[in-house]
Amino acid sequence: MFYDEKMETMPRPELRALQLERLRAVCARVYEHVPFYRRRFDEAHVKPADIRTLEDVRRLPFTQKQDMRDNYPYGMFAVPLKDIVRLHCSSGTTGKATVVGYTRQDLINWSQMVARGFVMAGATSSDILHNAYGYGLFTGGLGAHDGGEYLGMTVIPVSGGSTKRQAQLMRDFGATVLSCTPSYALHLYEAALEAGIDIKDLPLRIGVFGAEPWTEEMRRDIEAKMGITALNIYGLSEVMGPGVAMECAIGRSGMHLNEDHFLAEIIDPVTGEAKEPGEEGELVLTTLTKEGIPLIRYRTHDLTSLDLTPCPCGRTFARLTRFKGRSDDMLIIRGVNFFPSQVESLLLEVEGISPHYQIVLDREDNLDTVEVMVEVNENVFSDAIKDLQSLERRIQRSIKEYLGVTTKVRLVSPHSIARSQGKVQRVVDNRK
Ligand code: ADP
Ligand code: ZN
Repeated sequence: MFYDEKMETMPRPELRALQLERLRAVCARVYEHVPFYRRRFDEAHVKPADIRTLEDVRRLPFTQKQDMRDNYPYGMFAVPLKDIVRLHCSSGTTGKATVVGYTRQDLINWSQMVARGFVMAGATSSDILHNAYGYGLFTGGLGAHDGGEYLGMTVIPVSGGSTKRQAQLMRDFGATVLSCTPSYALHLYEAALEAGIDIKDLPLRIGVFGAEPWTEEMRRDIEAKMGITALNIYGLSEVMGPGVAMECAIGRSGMHLNEDHFLAEIIDPVTGEAKEPGEEGELVLTTLTKEGIPLIRYRTHDLTSLDLTPCPCGRTFARLTRFKGRSDDMLIIRGVNFFPSQVESLLLEVEGISPHYQIVLDREDNLDTVEVMVEVNENVFSDAIKDLQSLERRIQRSIKEYLGVTTKVRLVSPHSIARSQGKVQRVVDNRK
């Protein structure tokens, strides 16, 4: 099942020709309309007409989040404000928020990409979407909302918060598709249980989860608890919002990137050199169709790889493999590098551990310390102290063995770690 079969299954040579045509057009557009880009292109001694192949994209300068901040609020816009019909901001997870503007056509393209994503997940116009992404300046809420309506689903704009009530609405309205962050899905599941509702017994069958990193282990946990198919969706406000890439229910491995709208590169985050398909690195995106704020070689800081092997679903769009996290999320503790997502994978392998955890960084005698706080379920929590201690030591050993970092593991009682309404914060850094 496709939303736009012709585009989504286009043979790759044709797709690449389309990408090149659009790349040349967007370069010409930004050179003419955005002084920032004209300056950058001139400094790099490259003219839009120099772009003759897709590989020539590498001659263009990178764009960074900082560039958007420096040109706050409207400096990166390529059209007059009268043609902008909506503004959004990034969540500001890594600093000052950035502003993005959309033309009417940008919103249509976005809705269509999100609709493609829902169809990829197995949804149809007969579905009922419970959209618990936050509404407002954050792109998640309205992005998923518009895409759901475009597909023709019945969209319930619940947004985040009032979680117990959400569970009741979910039951009363018979939602079949849920969209939110994976951490919020778990929170919703627990709040529902407290309200006497087991989501597993409801008609809900599909979860479209994203906006934060999560692991395969987390997926299995959510699917088992809620009795649904849980799929991954990726996006970022600077480039568009949710729906830049989406996982299909048939392949379930990697998210198809909407390559008719975005050109992807994977680079070495340190040297900026190109990586081969299959190699991990930083995702760099160029928007091919955006009118409001076209972006050239935008450094996402997200770490993934490009999978060009054919997908059983028949789509020809390349797939982004599951994100390890952002390069800025990487923790370097006493010389050892690791990601919160790697800790998550190890924790969720352990029986009796719940998927709620926090990594607390501190400094003692000029040495960095790491404490992993993790909730256990009621059964484990009622065990004897010595059993809990031996479980703590087991987890500590497994983190040491697989990631090479020495941590202190502390098991805490159920529900003692704060639940997020949107993006979860896994790392608490007390070192400053
Ligand atoms: P902010 O950068 O302030 O969080 P956004 O709300 O635009 O702003 O969030 C985009 C970021 O969220 C992405 O760059 C990525 O790091 C993260 N993200 C979004 N979807 C996923 C996903 N499915 N898996 C992992 N990370 C994701
Ligand atoms: Zn697929």
